[in-house]
Amino acid sequence: MKLIKIKNSNKEITIGKIVCVGRNYAEHTIELGNEIPEKPVVFIKPASAVIYSGDTIKYPTFSDEMHHEVELVLLIGENVKDVSESVAEKSIIGYGVGLDMTLRDIQSTLKSKGHPWTIAKCFDTSAVLSDFIMKDDINLSLDEEIYLNVNDEVRQKDKLNKMILKPVELVQYLSSLMTLEKGDLVFTGTPKGVGKVNKGDVINAGFEGIGEIMVNVE
Ligand code: ZN
Repeated sequence: MKLIKIKNSNKEITIGKIVCVGRNYAEHTIELGNEIPEKPVVFIKPASAVIYSGDTIKYPTFSDEMHHEVELVLLIGENVKDVSESVAEKSIIGYGVGLDMTLRDIQSTLKSKGHPWTIAKCFDTSAVLSDFIMKDDINLSLDEEIYLNVNDEVRQKDKLNKMILKPVELVQYLSSLMTLEKGDLVFTGTPKGVGKVNKGDVINAGFEGIGEIMVNVE
């Protein structure tokens, strides 16, 4: 069982499922040679993959190409299914920053065979979370820049408003596919600039007003 850490609060929320979308920023979709889909690609990570800022990302033995993807993460506060825009808006109760660590070599092989991506996305330490901020404590305009540095070098830095489907639209869309429950997290996709990390690297990531992540790779 993994918990969501909330800034300035001792409230405890257990993490449910982690629903992730891919290809939700046009420039990132193009950099990987993919077509921009009508709806984002959807996949799931297990809560067992979660680590927090200050922890260590572990390279699995079966991959030589782990990539960083920094993403805005939504915290869902109530059960929602087939919801309107206003209910979707209300169901998002907090925001955090997450790293969707991805085994690009494994993913490429799976994609070429038409297989699910699960093995490339579910490994231990593949979901790194910052502390979360409750929505009441922040006025998110999507004009904020999300960033990720590796060894103090900027790799990803983009405005959140470059998302194709915005948070509320994402929750609406996902709730048409499955029930989202209290404690579920939604990874909203990554901007351009993804790349390989190596053992010994230090990653730091975040954005204005929302939690910072500092992790190393082993
Ligand atoms: Zn991602």
